[in-house]
Amino acid sequence: MSRPESRGTGSTFLGMPARPPRVPYGDGNLRGEEAFPRAAAGELRNEQLRRNLGRATGTIRGKRLAVTGELPDWEELRDAGAALKTDALNRLPELLEELERKVTERGGTVHWARDGAEANAIVTRLVKAAGSDEVIKVKSMATQEIGLNEHLEDAGITPWETDLAELIVQLGHDRPSHILVPAIHRNRDEIREIFLKEIPGVDPSLDSVPAHLAAAARAYLREKFMTTRVAVSGANFGIAETGTLGVVESEGNGRMCLTLPETLITVMGIEKVLPRHQDLEVFLQLLPRSSTGERMNPYTSLWTGVTEGDGPQDFHLVLLDNGRTAALADAVGRQALNCIRCSACLNVCPVYERVGGHAYGSTYPGPIGAVLTPQLAGMHAADDDPNSSLPYASTLCGACYDACPVKIDIPSLLVELRHQKTEESGRSAERLAMRAAAAVMGRPRLWTAAQRTARLGRALAGRDGTIGRLPAPFSGWSDTRDTPAPPKHTFRDWFASDEGAAALRDAAREGERRRAERRTSGDDQEDQ
Ligand code: SF4
Repeated sequence: MSRPESRGTGSTFLGMPARPPRVPYGDGNLRGEEAFPRAAAGELRNEQLRRNLGRATGTIRGKRLAVTGELPDWEELRDAGAALKTDALNRLPELLEELERKVTERGGTVHWARDGAEANAIVTRLVKAAGSDEVIKVKSMATQEIGLNEHLEDAGITPWETDLAELIVQLGHDRPSHILVPAIHRNRDEIREIFLKEIPGVDPSLDSVPAHLAAAARAYLREKFMTTRVAVSGANFGIAETGTLGVVESEGNGRMCLTLPETLITVMGIEKVLPRHQDLEVFLQLLPRSSTGERMNPYTSLWTGVTEGDGPQDFHLVLLDNGRTAALADAVGRQALNCIRCSACLNVCPVYERVGGHAYGSTYPGPIGAVLTPQLAGMHAADDDPNSSLPYASTLCGACYDACPVKIDIPSLLVELRHQKTEESGRSAERLAMRAAAAVMGRPRLWTAAQRTARLGRALAGRDGTIGRLPAPFSGWSDTRDTPAPPKHTFRDWFASDEGAAALRDAAREGERRRAERRTSGDDQEDQ
């Protein structure tokens, strides 16, 4: 957005602050190749994928319900999590500066990256300065978002993923499809095939027992842990008060990455900052229960700057914006930055469960991806931008809102983004249709006439009372579902008819009968 020029009236024109930039088109992994409906149609044909996803998400859902149900103050914890995140975002500049100060005081170095290109350049420079041509990585969505691995490879640096699921994705030349379980779309037989093909020297008699697969990966990674001098990590939280960074994980591979190398580079999205160490008390209850259905994650690693003789002696923190300030500037959409990446919304989403993560085209799939991705990277960077289809990748059933540990109202955000999309896309057919509908609904006589006209649609219905295929431009609706035939009468006509009046009289009599019964049994509070 360009700044308006001074109008030369003699007074100073203060103008409006420029809107923060979104992720440039073509950078990183926040935009797919095709719109969601096309990508989803392709994924839906993959029965194996649907079986793998259905089994995995069903298991996690059950575990999550069990462990959240056993906490009597679960709802209060969710409220506390939402309030803490909202407070942190409201004070973001102040908290980030405090974090920078504390990290620096403890011997670390802080770098600020406006976008993925800057972050990639900083990390590459640091790895080269450390004299290494390889890095080990502990799972980091931020580095996936900016395409760090691809950038490092172009610069002659080999990245080794050490999280088991990330390793499966990397060895399979694949893309992650879930926030927490990137290889959720693979079953154990597929993983065995990948290991046999890609891990040098692996036992050819390897079977698909999970423990044996994990042991094969462990043997492969052990040498990398012992010999690689630089590690790159993400961070679940950054504590402003103390300059402490934190990673939670299940396997311990992250702990190895965070402690064994000489140089540690952490790439953290700026929204991950929390004010106080004590805030972890809330989030370390919310996160593992919501994500893996565990009371506590097996490994929680916290580190503050550098400590002589213990762990990496060179620590760098890269604070990544990459569209986050743009999301923060959106009064409605900023809620999405409260996300703690637990993935509970993915696991309960009926759309995600059937199409998987790749259809969303972004590092962030599922319900939260459908609101976060368009905000970080925009929806209108090109004609037919694939991101503009993401707000429609939902049935708006609300399951994600119920599951979210920090109470992000994802359905409302999706509706807001749909509104923004139609508002910003010029004279689209959808916008014109919505305008026409609004004009008709705003005039009661016109609306009644339109409803009566709609009854003509009954002629299209089959014997089962449904319309199999609607004429253009409504055919997109009926391609994948049957449409119920319009009713014989509108509600208003029915309400005004003898039949409606009789139904109302019956309902009044039934209500009176029930009240009398309650009075007789003595439990009608109103009449006492
Ligand atoms: S939006 Fe909520 S449920 Fe979804 S990943 Fe983020 S914190 Fe978890």
